Amino acid sequence: MSVLPLADRFGRTATDLRLSVTDVCNLRCTYCLPATGVTWLPRPTILTAEELARLARVGIERLGITKIRLTGGEPLTRPDLVEIVERIAGPHPEVEIGLTTNGVGLAALAHDLKRAGVDRANISLDTIHAETYQAITRRDGLTSVIAGIRAASEAGLGPVKVNAVLTKGVNDSQFLDLLDFCLNEGTELRVIEQMPIGATRDWAAENLISADAVRAMAEERYELRPLPGRGAAPAARWEVVDNGTVRGTLGIIASVTEPFCGVCDRTRISADGQLRSCLFSRDETDLRTPLRGGATDDQIVELWAGTMWEKPRAHGSGHGGFGPGFEQPDRPMNAIGG
Ligand code: SAM
Repeated sequence: MSVLPLADRFGRTATDLRLSVTDVCNLRCTYCLPATGVTWLPRPTILTAEELARLARVGIERLGITKIRLTGGEPLTRPDLVEIVERIAGPHPEVEIGLTTNGVGLAALAHDLKRAGVDRANISLDTIHAETYQAITRRDGLTSVIAGIRAASEAGLGPVKVNAVLTKGVNDSQFLDLLDFCLNEGTELRVIEQMPIGATRDWAAENLISADAVRAMAEERYELRPLPGRGAAPAARWEVVDNGTVRGTLGIIASVTEPFCGVCDRTRISADGQLRSCLFSRDETDLRTPLRGGATDDQIVELWAGTMWEKPRAHGSGHGGFGPGFEQPDRPMNAIGG
């Protein structure tokens, strides 16, 4: 069967599928969700394991998807997560499967997820100070996350990456402690610039901790040596050198100050089966209704490829910016899939 690549009008081809398995999260990170009163998607709209696996199969076999990252919401809140992975990875062990998780409860599942077919885990952790962790996530869970990071490394879900978002006046001054923790654990810290996509809609440019600021903080303690070969990867990476010895690596995703729309190779499906060509899309293509209405694979291929062809050159003002002209998508990050 021939493969129709997910090309767009600007010469990009999507090969990386972000597949959200739930919008539900067990944390309430201040920059992502409100403290109370979150409205989850209606449960019957959430794709079943079988439906998720079918979309993944069509993506792999018909549209040239080579990488799938399971995300959410919090994927570990889905009781059938191991089954979802088995269904996707079983027929296609060649496809790289990643998991983005907050790590709460991961320790108990890491080996099962590895056996089912997850290759790598990215674990979100913004601080290693318990009080600040509580203030950001509005939950207690730091010990569980740290156990999850260690279990993921032991289970072979590596190289484990730790994703962190910095908030001015909250955890930015603790960045070096987090970096040291990651260097000691043998994981790569990746700082993601905070983007205007939270449900609380209170993002402000003046509060941004920029990639440059993160680099400057790291250089207060270490030498950073740039690593080449970034390709379509969002993170610029550096070796972290301490008195001539390489201690590990640091990645920074400058989604705000240096958007990477020009090399974006992603396609996204939300947990309720809505296809998006960009994280910041204001339009979606409904795949759930056709999927449940007996659509053939050919029909899904057509919808998917057509949507990706229309992928905008960049989000925001057309230059990948968040300045004038940028409108935040109606759906928040947890409902799109981060
Ligand atoms: N629950 C999983 C987790 O915590 O990794 C997966 C979903 S979460 C939305 C994925 C990542 O998006 C997390 O690392 C989170 O910190 C990050 N994130 C959430 N809101 C963000 C924002 N406004 N800007 C940048 N990153 C954000």
